[in-house]
Amino acid sequence: MNRVLLVDNSKSLLMALSEMIRSRLGMEVVCSLSLADAMHAVKEEGPFLAGIFGTVLVDAEAEEIVRTAAQRVPTVIFTARLDAATQIMLWERGIVDYVAKESMESFEHVVSLLDRLERNPGVGVLVAHNDAAFRRRVAGLLARHNFAVHEAASPDEMLLAVQNVPDLRLILLDARLDGAATTKRLNQVRKIRSKEELAVIVLAKPEDRHSVARLIKFGASGSMSDDFSLEEFYSRVALNLENIETLNRLRESAIRDLLTGAYNRRHLLERGGEEFSQHQRGNQRLSLIMLDADHFKAVNDNYGHETGDEVLRRISDTVRKALRQSDLFARIGGEEFVVLAPGTDGRGAQELAERIREAIEDLRIPLNKGELRVTASLGVAEAASSDRSVEDLLRRADLALYEAKQQGRNRVRSA
Ligand code: GH3
Ligand code: MG
Ligand code: MG
Repeated sequence: MNRVLLVDNSKSLLMALSEMIRSRLGMEVVCSLSLADAMHAVKEEGPFLAGIFGTVLVDAEAEEIVRTAAQRVPTVIFTARLDAATQIMLWERGIVDYVAKESMESFEHVVSLLDRLERNPGVGVLVAHNDAAFRRRVAGLLARHNFAVHEAASPDEMLLAVQNVPDLRLILLDARLDGAATTKRLNQVRKIRSKEELAVIVLAKPEDRHSVARLIKFGASGSMSDDFSLEEFYSRVALNLENIETLNRLRESAIRDLLTGAYNRRHLLERGGEEFSQHQRGNQRLSLIMLDADHFKAVNDNYGHETGDEVLRRISDTVRKALRQSDLFARIGGEEFVVLAPGTDGRGAQELAERIREAIEDLRIPLNKGELRVTASLGVAEAASSDRSVEDLLRRADLALYEAKQQGRNRVRSA
């Protein structure tokens, strides 16, 4: 679990902010009223994800705080007023960020900054730049924010990284990486990763204005002068990554079921169509399992709709645990689910369905008093030459499911 150091001369601020960090982020918080105390904590109780420092402490002010802290703990300055000269001094001394203490909203900023610092190791950022010294400097700035940093000294290295680093979300691209051919290189990047998956910020000299415009037309997300201020640098990086995250969230919410997190029917049909084409071209076997909870109406009637919802979530989790990475799991109706299994034949799918049936039968769902057990019936079908589409395959699995229900439920039948 990540720990945070919180240092301020106000006890009420320490209490309010530490409570917010604990409850919202589940992080452990160590509070100090003085710089001396804080440095003691760094030594004895570190490492910390970050130290958040007010600038008026009983034993030190801004300059001394930063001089002492910045080298020992990732330092965030949380302060009421800052003139421009002090701000520059803070950035130059290597702080991670500063947050202006203006309103309750600034507490939110601290929380979201900590949240990002915790998640950034899973966010890949590539610095693709000709100038080795500049590249190192930018890589160092990114490392300060815990990003997974990659470097590329040439267009080929950049393309390799785009192909091979799955968590890559941002490229900082030298406008002159490949001279006039940099636009062509960006075009190659865009053939591999779309704007929704990967942001590209162009780093340029003022005289490169013309090529920046072209790069933006060819798919860059934004630009920044290479004599950026540190505050601008971090703000633009954060903004571009937030945009990517928002787009990802929107895309995910359009294809997932809210209650269980499984894919929805539309996405199943879309991906199912693609897998079915692969099958028709002779590239793979393809099977489908349809699952329907038994006597589910009785669960709702006897224990209430909320318990019913909980049962659906537990069934989903149980199915997911039985699946492979390549299987696709969807909720297609109230208590009806589908597993699409590429590369699996009818016999393999039948075995998988049986394992799922057993796991659901073994579930014990705790109630206020006692526990609840459920069962499910499953129908299995493997794609055959008589199937014209994934819908045909679904229909045959549904018929097999109907048979399983007819024959007494809590069983698997194959088409
Ligand atoms: P069978 O064994 O034949 O499948 O019987 P059943 O009761 O499971 O089937 P039926 O289709 O009659 O009832 C399905 C029930 O699922 C009815 C509906 O109230 C419930 N249901 C559908 N969607 C949801 C949901 O999102 N949450 C909850 N709690 N219940 C749902
Ligand atoms: Mg049903
Ligand atoms: Mg049912």
